Amino acid sequence: MLVPMKEIVDAAYAGGYAVPALPSWSELLIRAEMEAADATNSPVIFLSFNHPDAKEFHELIGRLAEKANVPVAICLDHSRSFEDCVLGIKNGCTAIMADRSESSFEQNVAEVSELAKIAHAVNVSIEAELGHVGQGDNYAHDGVSMLTKPEDAKRFYDLTGVDALAVAVGTAHGVYKGTPHIDFERLRDINAACGRPLVLHGGSGSGDDNISKACTMGITKVNIVTDVFVTMNKTIRELALPDDQAKFFLRSTQKAVSDFAKHTFEMTGCIGKVSGKNSANEATHGNVFHE
Ligand SMILES: [Zn+2]
Repeated sequence: MLVPMKEIVDAAYAGGYAVPALPSWSELLIRAEMEAADATNSPVIFLSFNHPDAKEFHELIGRLAEKANVPVAICLDHSRSFEDCVLGIKNGCTAIMADRSESSFEQNVAEVSELAKIAHAVNVSIEAELGHVGQGDNYAHDGVSMLTKPEDAKRFYDLTGVDALAVAVGTAHGVYKGTPHIDFERLRDINAACGRPLVLHGGSGSGDDNISKACTMGITKVNIVTDVFVTMNKTIRELALPDDQAKFFLRSTQKAVSDFAKHTFEMTGCIGKVSGKNSANEATHGNVFHE
């Protein structure tokens, strides 16, 4: 079932695990990731943005979530304007990430607080970011600058009323240039100060053991996007199908994404954390790509 993201991250925080947040901007991705969540009794979060088909895709996610009977949230990722956040709510997201991480602390608090009131009024959750998670291709700089300060995180949480807070502890978006170093001491201090759900962006390529460890230290949502596409790319490369069999790349990539999603559930510790599908709805997720 489709739920406000708060329900998923609160349960994860209480249970000492995290839930992966995976890309949803194609039907193949949605079906593959939902199939994985359904098969492993895992909650899942779909990342989205306001593309032209967003509303239809969100409706599809909602229908599949009903059949799977696992808790599912749709989070508008990195929304940087007031209008975009409101449109995300209108398009059916059950959470918005209001990213003002490049603004001053005061500006971040002011804009996020306003959006928190709006989102909560319609039972939509809100995530914000404090400190700034940069880019992997600029890791030497971004990996160490603008890390989240524990005392600021606690103040930010208290002032804004957000449901989840993305923190900068050494991860970065995209593909890393260099070896990622996670500042676990900082994460431990942030968690001790806040005592509320934290979010890790830049989960791709950050090291499975690092992610698993972070998921026992207050991280409740791990954004993983690049690695999903790397998985698809690798599958297509390895398949190298001749033209008369080219159509099989859809089935193969969908399976590869589903297998990778299962791996992320295992890595974050959320497998088996929900009760699973209704028996009346068995075999509801056929492959949409008929041959
Ligand atoms: Zn991010």
